[in-house]
Amino acid sequence: MKPMGAIPAEFLAPGPLRIAGRSAAEWIDAAGSSPVFVYDVGIATARVARFRAAMPPGLDLHYAIKANPAPPMIAALARLVDGLDVASGGELSLALAEKPAGRISFAGPGKRDAELEVAIIAGATINLESEGEAARAIAAGQRLCATPRLAVRVNPDMELRGSGMKMGGRASPFGVDADRVPALVRRIIKSGADWRGFHIFAGSQALSAEAIIDTQTETLALAGRLADDVGVMPPLVNLGGGFGIPYFPGDVALDVEAVGAALAERLAERAGSLAETRFAIELGRWLVGECGVYLTQVIDRKESRGETFLIVDGGLHHQLAASGNFGTVVKRNYPVAVAAAPYDAPTETVSVVGCLCTPLDRLADRVTLPIAQPGDIIAIFMAGAYGLTASPTAFLGHPQAAEITANVGQS
Ligand SMILES: *Cc1c(COP(=O)(O)O)cnc(C)c1O
Repeated sequence: MKPMGAIPAEFLAPGPLRIAGRSAAEWIDAAGSSPVFVYDVGIATARVARFRAAMPPGLDLHYAIKANPAPPMIAALARLVDGLDVASGGELSLALAEKPAGRISFAGPGKRDAELEVAIIAGATINLESEGEAARAIAAGQRLCATPRLAVRVNPDMELRGSGMKMGGRASPFGVDADRVPALVRRIIKSGADWRGFHIFAGSQALSAEAIIDTQTETLALAGRLADDVGVMPPLVNLGGGFGIPYFPGDVALDVEAVGAALAERLAERAGSLAETRFAIELGRWLVGECGVYLTQVIDRKESRGETFLIVDGGLHHQLAASGNFGTVVKRNYPVAVAAAPYDAPTETVSVVGCLCTPLDRLADRVTLPIAQPGDIIAIFMAGAYGLTASPTAFLGHPQAAEITANVGQS
């Protein structure tokens, strides 16, 4: 038997699982098919409220829509946050449907000229990832007789300790090496473009408040040094984010209140070169990861050499991360439940495997679950971020999963 992660508190009530007031079977009925992702906007709304209460006043919150770009989710969060961060031309058009361009920023390496042009015409901020991209954006602005809004993404000297995905302190396709940033900013200002400031993102999925506080401290110091060197105050400094969520056994939720208290202190003592600067934090996973549940029905149940397998109609083609194949080194179990099982149902040790013809498609490895039969619904939690759109949906030609966004009225 192997442990699994903790079920988010919002779904922990004893007895059959309820998501946004309905049972798993009712959601599959509502979708008309299984599997289905259900996202409870009420939970994401509560995360935004917790962020606002914890963080210093005046700090902007951006939603990084790649975490969950389902249009109703973007629409709901757009009403609650100050900005949307996008990472492709496709995401840019989704964001422009929900938020004024002045509140959208566009990061990511390898932006095509056509994407730069759409951003410039709309008036979205482009977070430049390289000097070459800066030159192409400035040239596009001249071609279009439009003033591009340009921020510089900095490849910082430090990384976010303990983060699942490190993005600083090394050679990187993301951002401009810190020592080359001041010269680039001077070129941008001289070109007549509207310089919007800095974007400094040092990592993702960190659960340690201390690590995030240290990174924010260093990020603020770096932004202060760069602003000093440039000699012009940056209108905005995007401090990155990296707030993680507890997926696995032993993970402890991030103490956001400690991060907010420390950030308030650091902002109060920031460099004079940042006196009038606005600051933003950009989050994806922490806002939406816990609000989603992936529901999939058991098709078959089999024994093999002493082990029991529940074979479901979903799999890694919808929820790659739960199979341990999306950015994790060691495969560990996401929280999983048998949706309709009573609180005191007898249990067994089983593996939940998807319907794909590959041994990679294991959604839960030797976990203790209530005994389930074909037709029963398995719930896989932590499915609100980097789920369907971060999975190889075309692999093996199975049907798409449905997505339902619930409690939209609450936002
Ligand atoms: C992916 C990404 C995010 C969101 O990361 P989360 O871990 O989901 O919060 C934020 N900013 C940038 C630049 C990103 O690439």
